[in-house]
Amino acid sequence: MAKQWKEKVESIIKQLRPELQELSEYIYANPEMGHEEFLSSKAHVELLRQHGFEVEYPYLGIGTAFRAVYKGKTAGPTIAYLSEYDALPGIGHGCGHNLLGATDTGAGIALSKLVDEAGGTVIVLGTPAEETNGDKVTMSDAGTFDDVDVAFCTHPSDGYYASGTSMAMEAIEFRFYGQTSHAAASPYEGNNALDACINFFNNVSSLRQQIHPSARVHGVIKEGGEAANVIPDYTRAEFYVRAMDMPYLNELREKVIRCAEAGALAANCTMEWGYYEAAYKNLITNETLSSLYNENMQSLGIEMITEERDSMGSMDMGNVSQVVPAINPYFEITNGKSVSGHTTEFRECTLTEEAYKAMDKTIAGLTYTALDLIGNPDKLNKVKEEFSNSVISKN
Ligand SMILES: [Zn+2]
Ligand SMILES: [Zn+2]
Repeated sequence: MAKQWKEKVESIIKQLRPELQELSEYIYANPEMGHEEFLSSKAHVELLRQHGFEVEYPYLGIGTAFRAVYKGKTAGPTIAYLSEYDALPGIGHGCGHNLLGATDTGAGIALSKLVDEAGGTVIVLGTPAEETNGDKVTMSDAGTFDDVDVAFCTHPSDGYYASGTSMAMEAIEFRFYGQTSHAAASPYEGNNALDACINFFNNVSSLRQQIHPSARVHGVIKEGGEAANVIPDYTRAEFYVRAMDMPYLNELREKVIRCAEAGALAANCTMEWGYYEAAYKNLITNETLSSLYNENMQSLGIEMITEERDSMGSMDMGNVSQVVPAINPYFEITNGKSVSGHTTEFRECTLTEEAYKAMDKTIAGLTYTALDLIGNPDKLNKVKEEFSNSVISKN
């Protein structure tokens, strides 16, 4: 990274800090659940418009999504930064999406100040409902990334973790249908849909012994009957099925469905299944892009942790990573302490000076990485080559 860029980036970030801090604190104070992030998305859009972005809002018919574009004066690659701003029930911004939004939008704004000279286009996407029914899935399916060269999303955490993996996940509901009858007077005339459902859970427990240790199958009974003296004619369970890649997820889904079919058969009931939330694909980190980002962070005095993380969640960034080269690294906001996400403690960390310093460094790392790609077509080609080998060939 040329010195002249570094100095410019540093001064841009210094100027942006009060606005980004204000954005994060406003969103912290107004936590909104997925698809209800009206104030949060509006605050992002207003800031991006002030900085000269052309914004489509709502985007793809989603009220709280947006697509903000700043086209540089000269041609070059298109870099996308993805912002999230949804909160969690009860604890507000326990996942730190207030700071996530400010950081990724901040990186977009910082880069927009440089692309007139460096070349290229910057896109900031407002991506609603990451915690529930993530719209990165909708965007990946709708072709949002067709004209994008690389995509970044960075998440607050208790360490500077390099982009890794996440699990592919499907949200499947199973509905069992039987026949009501009086549970004491004429149980022999009924078909017990709750037995079918419980059989299903027991079948899944048997299956679990033979599945890959990294895979997960877990569920709850959402509707289990109305009264103890009535044989239930309808029950419904919601499940998540997770695996490290799509081929194994496809295999596992079929096995879980067979568990439900067998449960229904044994209780003389019928079964239907369907999806109740969007399916998330596994995250495929573009290692070339990830190394470039890690080196840039190192130049800022941050050593990225490259060991695999223990936590195995699923995220809608997975879908993005399967249509465009992408990374999803983490930045530390907990001042050296170990604090898990989805807690009130983690939420409070987003307001600290340490967190804002981490935001500044992360914005610098993201901007440097984009400038590296804009200035070196060879590097971008290597990123794309890896993408075709690792993602396109596997799908
Ligand atoms: Zn999160
Ligand atoms: Zn979360």
